[in-house]
Amino acid sequence: MPIYEYRCNQCNRDFSELFLNPREIKRVRCKYCHSPNLTRLVSSFSVHQTEASRLAQFDTSKSRGDDFYKDSRNIGLWAKKRMKEMGVDLGPKMDQIVEKGRTRKILDDYDK
Ligand SMILES: [Zn+2]
Repeated sequence: MPIYEYRCNQCNRDFSELFLNPREIKRVRCKYCHSPNLTRLVSSFSVHQTEASRLAQFDTSKSRGDDFYKDSRNIGLWAKKRMKEMGVDLGPKMDQIVEKGRTRKILDDYDK
């Protein structure tokens, strides 16, 4: 099941779409303005695969060096871990927020 992320060229917003049926991929439109004029972003699949282990190793009480945020996958990790420590579980919504922050950063490298 592929998850694709898009940027809408019309309203400039990002969103992600999960496809159960490959034929739906060609029909995808912006969630906000329904424009078909979209740019596909990098898949976040690998990010999700390693996130559990990243979270497990992550210590919010230690300070993070400059290198930490050079890895865009670490963006949002701190917030997520803190939420968990405080017993707050935003579930998929938090993932979406974090993912947005990440893709926006990654975007600069992939924008054509
Ligand atoms: Zn749009």
